[in-house]
Amino acid sequence: EDLIEDDETPVRWFRANRVKTTAAKVVEELSHLRQVFSIEDIEKGTIYHDEYVTDLFGIHPREDLVSTRLYKAGEVIIQDRASCFPAFILNPQPGKDLIIDSCAAPGNKTTHLAAILRNSPESVIAFEKNKERAKVLEKMCDKAGGLGCIRVQQGDFTATNPEEYPQVTGLLVDPSCSGSGIFGRAFEENDAQEYTEERLKKLASFQASIMKHAMKFPNARKIVYSTCSIHAQENEQVVVDLLLDKAVQKQGWRVCNRKDVIPSWPRRGLVEEFSAMENPEACAEGCIRTMPKVEGGIGFFAIWGLDGVLLEVGID
Ligand code: SAM
Repeated sequence: EDLIEDDETPVRWFRANRVKTTAAKVVEELSHLRQVFSIEDIEKGTIYHDEYVTDLFGIHPREDLVSTRLYKAGEVIIQDRASCFPAFILNPQPGKDLIIDSCAAPGNKTTHLAAILRNSPESVIAFEKNKERAKVLEKMCDKAGGLGCIRVQQGDFTATNPEEYPQVTGLLVDPSCSGSGIFGRAFEENDAQEYTEERLKKLASFQASIMKHAMKFPNARKIVYSTCSIHAQENEQVVVDLLLDKAVQKQGWRVCNRKDVIPSWPRRGLVEEFSAMENPEACAEGCIRTMPKVEGGIGFFAIWGLDGVLLEVGID
């Protein structure tokens, strides 16, 4: 923890785990902390209730959270704001939606889905290809109290037959990526060779293949795509690749409008990356980018919806 420079993580983010508690109860238990209303005002002894993601809080990194009862009981879960965006944007409804988390371990977003779904029984199927990571995922879901809601499925998501999942209404696609956004890794010279054009191309094609599979689920209406990469190759360019794909067009998938994707969030996709599209601005506006420091971690997010389907996104 001490290796992380303070100026890189001016905020420690955590969310009230709605499977086990409520935001109000968490605030009450942390009532020794003074509430502040801007991230810039966070210092030791204060707490900030996020304006974008419901149930999310920020405190000073030197504030002790890990040894509190709340943390040990799994009533709060430490998770960067950027990592909270996908499940929040997907906004599944308890008792109505069945969600596939296609690339789930270690399970931050899976357990967040369970919280948003208020632990509604059997509402999330969480795929994880890697055996060891699937065990970690199971453990995390258990600690969060979400195993009544989440079914962990060890295996390759792309090997599933979508026709066998007619009840699935939404998917979260958070595939392996270069991770170039994690604490500015890409900016460190020694790591530059990790981000060769060839490697990024391979990753992008893998990411698009997971998305294309997700788009085959017959009754899916929403899909959130996310990475923790800063590279357009894995972000906007994957979106363009999908938008230009004939099969995807035939299925009717489109990138949603800004109004569906946290409209008040200022940093959107890179417009110049959509120059091949008819309306580059609209495409870019439908995507979100986040940066470290006060923005709460790096990420890229795009929500896809079916033509003509009205989305209620991020309303909790
Ligand atoms: N969503 C996770 C979270 O928020 O905690 C992080 C997911 S991580 C970026 C990507 C994960 O996808 C890895 O654990 C990887 O093993 C898994 N994965 C990669 N390809 C997969 C596939 N075809 N099917 C299922 N899981 C896959």
